[in-house]
Amino acid sequence: MTISPRDKNAPRDIDAPAIIAAKPDVTKPNTKKVFIKTYGCQMNVYDSERMADVLAPIGYAPTEEPDHADLVILNTCHIREKAAEKVYSELGRIRQYKEKNKPDMKVAVAGCVAQAEGAEIMSRAPVVDMVLGPQTYHKLPEMIAKVHRGTGDLLETEFDTLEKFDQLPELRQPKGFSSFLTIQEGCDKFCTFCVVPYTRGAEVSRPVAQVVAEARQLAKHGVREITLIGQNVNAYNGVGEDGNQWTLGQLIRHVALIGGIDRIRFTTSHPRDMDDDLIETLGSEPKLMPYLHLPIQAGSNKILSAMNRDHTYDHYKNLIAKIRAARPDIALSGDFIVGFPGETETDFQQTMKCVEEIGYGSSFSFKYSVRPGTPGAGLPRQVPEDIKQDRLVRLQALLYKQQHDFNLSLVGKTLDVLVEGRGRKNGQLFGRSPYLQGTHFDGPESLIGQIVKVKMTDAGRNSLIGDWVE
Ligand code: SF4
Repeated sequence: MTISPRDKNAPRDIDAPAIIAAKPDVTKPNTKKVFIKTYGCQMNVYDSERMADVLAPIGYAPTEEPDHADLVILNTCHIREKAAEKVYSELGRIRQYKEKNKPDMKVAVAGCVAQAEGAEIMSRAPVVDMVLGPQTYHKLPEMIAKVHRGTGDLLETEFDTLEKFDQLPELRQPKGFSSFLTIQEGCDKFCTFCVVPYTRGAEVSRPVAQVVAEARQLAKHGVREITLIGQNVNAYNGVGEDGNQWTLGQLIRHVALIGGIDRIRFTTSHPRDMDDDLIETLGSEPKLMPYLHLPIQAGSNKILSAMNRDHTYDHYKNLIAKIRAARPDIALSGDFIVGFPGETETDFQQTMKCVEEIGYGSSFSFKYSVRPGTPGAGLPRQVPEDIKQDRLVRLQALLYKQQHDFNLSLVGKTLDVLVEGRGRKNGQLFGRSPYLQGTHFDGPESLIGQIVKVKMTDAGRNSLIGDWVE
């Protein structure tokens, strides 16, 4: 794959020391295969890539074929209803395959279901050799050794986030030209529908120098777009190079100085942590893309309060007005939950009004479902399933129309597209617009990895079609 030369105007490299000292190359030849199945959000996508990095020095190469794997890792997500049951059924399938075809195959359960279920997994599914929470996957080599020795603790669900990041290998092997980079983990907000504070722990931010070192590594490997991620990313307050705690805005401006990084995004943000510095950075930093995912979940103040969101609809609306004043071309994305316990038709209409007033370029919307262990699970006045379904259909009709209309509004415009790879059709390429829409156009493969100008000629609800201009 060809990586294009950098934009001549872009590099303004900073001299940030890598805080992880270079380690001797002790990488073993790849003699074994690991298959990692990733469930859930971008935090898990990042964690799965880092698990592969942790396993490479002990001889494991990633495979897309579970049947060929010596080690299978399920990197699980607890956000959806019946998440644990789905993991147990997958483990049932793995057990059958292992018994019949590959008795030496090792099986690990990682991620948020591992954190929530802990030892229960090993007693319910003896096929599992090890269980690791989201903060302990750097211990995989140690745990694999224990499995082979047949001794030691095979359950690791501690919450030491910073220790994990200190132990991860410096070398990253990113796939493609766009990469996630975790800068923050955990959440202190305790929304009453959400399991994250229980599975990922309290908010922890990585030090600035560590983030910069990883971003520089990514740039060295050809990555041009970085998405800074965290469960509550705009609560970022990592220690800066001056010893003070830095805001997300400060961090973004610093990462923007790294030569080779041409685009920056961040997700997921909470309205309460959207400070003026970040809003000003949205307006002033050209490498920051004009796209903001800022969930509100519901438009009714009564429901926002029951969800423990700690803000009102007016607070959100004023915030959006400030953000749009700072960055008029911004496209907004949101998360919505319908049918939270106690939601009446009047409350739901306030969510519809919110969507009409704010206007979203993309969105994620769901029916409320009980997550065991969260306060929402025990609330009275759970909304019947048919009402939730009806509300979701009405809400999505509006959100999808807004999304399609937004995409259509870009037809005729020329946008910068980061070309990620080949499209589905012959001669077609695929990339991402500044607003994150998938974009298809015809062009030579030599454009892969470049940021090119594409004039949009058509738009569907989920993607854009255009002509390569230059
Ligand atoms: S802010 Fe987000 S991650 Fe934190 S509890 Fe609420 S929904 Fe969950």
